[in-house]
Order: sequence, then C-alpha cells, then structure tokens
Amino acid sequence: MKLSPSIEALIEGLRHLPGVGPKSAQRMTLHLLERDREGAQQIAEAIEVALSKVKNCSRCRNFTELEICEICSDPKRDPTTLCVVEAPADVMAIEQSGSFRGHYYVLMGHLSPIDGIGPEQLGLEALCQRFADGEIEEVILATNPTVEGEATAYYISEQARAAAVTVSRIAHGVPLGGELEYTDANTLAHALSGRTVVGE
Ligand SMILES: [Zn+2]
Repeated sequence: MKLSPSIEALIEGLRHLPGVGPKSAQRMTLHLLERDREGAQQIAEAIEVALSKVKNCSRCRNFTELEICEICSDPKRDPTTLCVVEAPADVMAIEQSGSFRGHYYVLMGHLSPIDGIGPEQLGLEALCQRFADGEIEEVILATNPTVEGEATAYYISEQARAAAVTVSRIAHGVPLGGELEYTDANTLAHALSGRTVVGE
C-alpha cells in the first residue's frame, strides 16, 4: 500500500526522535491524525516556537531564551565554582539533584576528532578565557565517564591547571560508560560532594 506523501513525510519526521523506529513513527502519525489533531497542532506550534526562541546562553552555552541564562544571572549562585558538563540534560539532572549551587559550562558534546569535533566546536577557547579571567576558583569536570568524556575532561583539566584553577572530577557511583543524564539524583549528589581533586 502506498501512503499519502504527507503521511510519509510525518512518519519520516518523527523518526528523527531518539528511540523511535519505523513502527513507532507510523503508530504516532496515525494516532495524531486519527485521534489527536489538536495535540498535533500544539506539538507543531511548540516546535516552531522552541526553534525560533531557544538559543545558547552567551556565558555557559546552555539552552535559554535570554542572552544570559537564569542560572548565570542568578546572584544567589556561586560564580567561583564551575561545573563542566556535556549536555543540557546533564544540567537538568544536576539541578534536580539539588546538590550544586555554582555555575555551569555546557560543552554541547565532547571531543571527537573522527566526527570533526575539536576544542573550537565545544567553545573551549571561551572556557579557557574564563579560567584566565580569574573569577573561577574550582572547575568540576562532570563529563560522562566514556572514552570521549574522559579525553575531554583531561584536555580541560590541563588548561585549567595551567591557569591555576583547582580541578576536580566527579567519580563516585557514576557507572562507567554511563551517561550522567541517566544517573539518579542521590548518586549524582554523592558524585558531586565526593569529587576528587585532579593532579597536584
Ligand atoms: Zn548561562
């Protein structure tokens, strides 16, 4: 059976979502068209608005609709402690654990030369500039415990130590090869409080 081009396009579109295969995409498409056209309209509008409004914070690179995000501009947070993570989901996970009151730096990825992702793509120059500025006293490396995450952490730790910034790495309880985002709040809180200073 040949589906209409619009249905075909929607199925293809939904397959961009993580974990959605052809069967699920087809089921979602038919569900929206059959039973929830209003919901579909809301999704379409929400995607359009998010795409036009959400950008990266000019200070920490996290997603925001402002020039400088709410975390970076919150006077109650400690700007001398900077937690470096790979993705906005990691910030959400740490924020939900309620165990950190410093600032973040969101790399939006990790070093991966094969994929053409180097220091420039991760904004590491701007990060090093902030080390040099002298406001940051401690950088907590909370990249994922994967090969790429470790390599990224190592690169940043070298830069930070060269600028005399204390470097620590979250370690305890975060499963090896696990993604920070999937670590539960308690484990994450322990990982942060039990962080170890790197080097020296
Ligand atoms: Zn920010």
